[in-house]
Amino acid sequence: MAGRFFSVFSRSLNQPFRSRLQGLMNYGLSCCVNALLQSFSATWELVDLLDRWNPVDKYKESVPLQLRKVLLAMQSDQSQPAPHQDFLHCLDRNYIRLHVQQDAVEVFLSILNLIQQQMSDKALAQEIQSLYKVTVETYLQCLECTYIESGTSFLLSLPMHIKESHNSLEDCIRLFFELQELRDRDNCYCERCGEKKPSKQRFRNSRGYTRKLHCKVTFPETLNISEILTAEALSQSYVQSDSQYSLCAVIVHSGDAMFGHYTAYVRHKKDQSWYYADDSNVRQVSWEEVQNTYGGSEREGTAYMLLYRRTPEGKQQEWSSG
Ligand SMILES: [Zn+2]
Repeated sequence: MAGRFFSVFSRSLNQPFRSRLQGLMNYGLSCCVNALLQSFSATWELVDLLDRWNPVDKYKESVPLQLRKVLLAMQSDQSQPAPHQDFLHCLDRNYIRLHVQQDAVEVFLSILNLIQQQMSDKALAQEIQSLYKVTVETYLQCLECTYIESGTSFLLSLPMHIKESHNSLEDCIRLFFELQELRDRDNCYCERCGEKKPSKQRFRNSRGYTRKLHCKVTFPETLNISEILTAEALSQSYVQSDSQYSLCAVIVHSGDAMFGHYTAYVRHKKDQSWYYADDSNVRQVSWEEVQNTYGGSEREGTAYMLLYRRTPEGKQQEWSSG
């Protein structure tokens, strides 16, 4: 047979069609990292930045280096599942232990921090961080002398305080940015008064604790921050056209807080459709199925971390909520 080209598609018998997403093997409790890798892979801006990087210091313990390797392997059309054992061992050497039940938000933040610490190309490391960075203005007002102390700080995730009475993400965001009064034991130090006084504060500083809540919290596929927050809660430099976000990944937790399993719903870059990744099992799903993770039932998996992408053209930014 000369002068003709033909292609061969290799298909395994139990997989009649090739999904557009690569699964990841579960190596003893690696489901948490697996689900996070799917969400990193759905963050193609991150994949592009890591692809652009020309690492000079190729030491095995480098989280950004191993992350780059696994994310690029996940983009390729090679046989699935993508190899990621090196990445898992690398995390282990950086104290994100293998064979231990992990908290997805903690591991997510640790990986982002390790990228910052270990990447020698600091400019690129900054670009990666700015993908996830949420700038917030802190605000503390003394209720007696009205002195206002304000500043700027950065968050890599918005911890949502979930209450039975607040059952949508929009409500949780509103609550997070709402001014709250701090009194009695919670009094804050006022510079002008020189002592602790009742105050008004923008953010809840409550530390997260691990307890699985089974109340239902809905979240939308797209959301507009300027429609959720009042003008008072938005900074003056906030650009209205930058307020549109779309959901690109949902990290799902099933089981209880101590023993559970993580999976991920991610949106694919090419066709924008939703996929469900349960370790090496990957399938295309509908948005309706993603909505099953709103919670409220003990049997179903519940959304634990959401990743939204800012949608207007130009600057891309993401934020997440745990
Ligand atoms: Zn005061």
